[in-house]
Amino acid sequence: MHILLSNDDGYLAPGIRALWNYLQARQDVTVTMVAPDRNQSGTSSSLTLSNPLRLTAHNNEVYSVNGTPTDCVHLGLTGVCKQEPDIVLSGINEGANMGDDVIYSGTVAAALEGRFLGLPAIAVSLASLHGKPVEHYDTAVKAVEELLKKIKQYPDNGKMILNVNVPDVPWSSIRGFWVTRLGQRHRSEPVIEDRDPRGRPIYWVGPPGEEADAGEGTDFYAVRQGFVSVTPIRTDLTYYQVLNDTVAWLQS
Ligand code: MN
Repeated sequence: MHILLSNDDGYLAPGIRALWNYLQARQDVTVTMVAPDRNQSGTSSSLTLSNPLRLTAHNNEVYSVNGTPTDCVHLGLTGVCKQEPDIVLSGINEGANMGDDVIYSGTVAAALEGRFLGLPAIAVSLASLHGKPVEHYDTAVKAVEELLKKIKQYPDNGKMILNVNVPDVPWSSIRGFWVTRLGQRHRSEPVIEDRDPRGRPIYWVGPPGEEADAGEGTDFYAVRQGFVSVTPIRTDLTYYQVLNDTVAWLQS
């Protein structure tokens, strides 16, 4: 199995290092890492179009790129890998990517880009439970190990991406895997305004909103209950259920 590994926290981040160390040690896996040279969290599916991308080769099939996660996977699949990988893995992200956060996520974006280019893809995030910094990357690695055992039977219909969120607890405390849907958040908190040393206003993007739809069946709920959340997502954003209503509205 040949895996293209990427992330949005940067190629030196502890999450991607943990996953790389694990994959590298496996005899049956070859792994190519193409990841951003710095933290690119929150960049979503952006491509760098007005500047050149620079690829830096490190040891052992590890490459960093001065670009976004999407740039990395794009470059990895169309320029770096001599042989097409079997799957794209993105992560392990430092922090959850659940509910509406998925729209902004560079971790999920790397997986989406793999999917756009024809490959099965899995995004993996380590979810802090009480606002504390995450620490149990080994738990997320174990979750990936379990998923890879089943990867031959992966129902690859050419559309699906798996968005995986792992609670930040020891593996022995994980209660199992739970297939979920994306929850939803309330509207984000407002921006935080401050002043620069010259007295001009500056702004920081504020925290996300509170969980709104976080009941049973959602990713939020599963992770809070100690389960690894597995949400199948797809790139087609069409809202099929309202196609007919939209036609009726236009004709009214
Ligand atoms: Mn990140």
